[in-house]
Amino acid sequence: MRKPFICGNWKMNKTIAQTGQFVADLLPLIAGVKDVDVGFAPPASALAPAVDFLIGTDLLLGAQNVHWKKSGAFTGELSCEMLDEIGCDFVLVGHSERRQYFGETDETVGLRAVAALQAGITPVICIGELLEERDRGEELAVVERQLRAAYENISAQSAANTVVAYEPVWAIGTGRTATADEAQRMHSHIRDVLAKRYRDIVSQQIRILYGGSVKPENVVEIMQGADVDGALVGGASLSAETFASLVRFRV
Ligand code: PEP
Repeated sequence: MRKPFICGNWKMNKTIAQTGQFVADLLPLIAGVKDVDVGFAPPASALAPAVDFLIGTDLLLGAQNVHWKKSGAFTGELSCEMLDEIGCDFVLVGHSERRQYFGETDETVGLRAVAALQAGITPVICIGELLEERDRGEELAVVERQLRAAYENISAQSAANTVVAYEPVWAIGTGRTATADEAQRMHSHIRDVLAKRYRDIVSQQIRILYGGSVKPENVVEIMQGADVDGALVGGASLSAETFASLVRFRV
């Protein structure tokens, strides 16, 4: 049985002070929720202070990106060792904004995922097709290509420690969501691809999150899909009240 994971991606939003306020506001709103993993990925500046804000809580902390090299001349980057030292539980790799604006490729997404696993950090591997790829009917093939590249050098044992986030690019920050059927169809395809790469028993352990304009109004419907194991949430994760209602999607 896969435990749902509701994960916030704050992108380039919130200062350290705002991060502390968010945690203080969120905790009472989700008190008693035990059957859901809850995490958020603040900007890099707030990661280390967030560890203090999270003491004594079950909230998971994530980074929005990581480099695969251990150290070196990579101005502006952080290594897995650095994220581990801070206390990060997970890291987003291959978010579509990283692919679109910062030149990330299928290959470097795979390198980042492997490096994170080696450091004991869960990679949340973000994949998803562009609108024009969907319009051409290529969405299943695009997602399969992205998955195969990301998992090429990940062993079956490590694969169980990964999370996939399916985020159709046309649904990110646009207010447009995939229907529950569209999401489930793709999530089932993703699990099939993972079952072919590994075995059924491995693919059944990997959580597959949906991302793209998830909000309180659509979360219940989206989460109904048998292969939808949670949500990666951008805009709606910035307010503690809204994020809490996503976390409490079963209540
Ligand atoms: C995201 O950035 O991962 C995302 C899903 O954003 P939004 O929820 O705002 O569409």
